Amino acid sequence: MKKHNFSAGPCILPKEVMQKASEAVLELDGIGLSLIEISHRSKEFVAIMDKARSLALELLGLEGKGYQALFLHGGASLQFLMTAYNLLDKKAGYVNTGTWSQKAIKEARLLGDVVEVASSQEQNFNHIPKGYSVPSDLDYLHLTSNNTIFGTQIKEFPKTNVPLVCDMSSDIFSRQLDFSKFDLIYAGAQKNMGPAGATLVVVKEDILGKVSRKIPSMLDYSIHVKQESMFNTPPVFAVYVSMLTLQWLKDLGGIAAIEEINERKANLIYSEIDLNPVFSGYAAKEDRSLMNATFNITDDALKDTFDTMCKEAGISGINGHRSVGGYRASMYNALPMESVGVLVDIMSELEKKG
Ligand SMILES: *Cc1c(COP(=O)(O)O)cnc(C)c1O
Repeated sequence: MKKHNFSAGPCILPKEVMQKASEAVLELDGIGLSLIEISHRSKEFVAIMDKARSLALELLGLEGKGYQALFLHGGASLQFLMTAYNLLDKKAGYVNTGTWSQKAIKEARLLGDVVEVASSQEQNFNHIPKGYSVPSDLDYLHLTSNNTIFGTQIKEFPKTNVPLVCDMSSDIFSRQLDFSKFDLIYAGAQKNMGPAGATLVVVKEDILGKVSRKIPSMLDYSIHVKQESMFNTPPVFAVYVSMLTLQWLKDLGGIAAIEEINERKANLIYSEIDLNPVFSGYAAKEDRSLMNATFNITDDALKDTFDTMCKEAGISGINGHRSVGGYRASMYNALPMESVGVLVDIMSELEKKG
């Protein structure tokens, strides 16, 4: 039986995508060869890469607006360094909203001045800082739109003239935003788009080429743009599966359609958390993530019962991250409403037992 997969990442992907991807590993579209044994320069794979790149821009509403989409290696973690390498000349600002922001700050500090413009660290990142001002002399401001570990999400982005760089690893393609407000967006594929191994970078071309340092080729966005994301062998399988997922999303009606579903899933679980005295939410209500719901059990004596009930119902991947404890239900695009329903039923059954 397929489990209800609430994993925070790598995470659930659409069933149809898995089916098609498995077939392509055996044989790609009747060509007599596997997807993973053909040249990345073959016309078949070039078409896949082009499709993946154009679907990404199309879904984000960025086609024809001076942006390029790249599928690179190294995960979102390499982007912590790469963004700074390409954009940090003198000083950059970072909003510190959790573990991933901290890691981004650490890498950027290798290359220049970094100011923490705002932070929610003192409250163990249970909310998104607001009302801070952004210095106007920054090369860029770096944000993390969704804090996967703590379950918080930026709802309103700061208004500033400084270029915006955003780590959207865990909520890209999940909600509508004016993506043209951002100058660079990056996201590891394995949260909402595909298997691990590819990282999507969407970059506005006119912010490149402004730093004075020499940039190693593999870290240089301009080179990847010029080579149409084929500077070296790309992660072919991860790109292919990402392309299939983006096509799945487009067929579903795009981000507007999935956002509505994601809101319904999130409302279902958060209303249970709020109404059920056995559970309490971790993140500040106004900052709650649509993707990762973090919560605790109020009566430790019920923990074993809850864990057993979840296990018996085939619920997988809801343990909280070690830095927060408790539980975390990740509800990425491909997670069916039904899975959230199963979890919520168990939560309310537990209340009756308690
Ligand atoms: C998972 C995650 C990362 C790290 O991604 P890798 O691809 O493993 O490097 C970075 N930022 C956010 C917000 C994440 O959720």
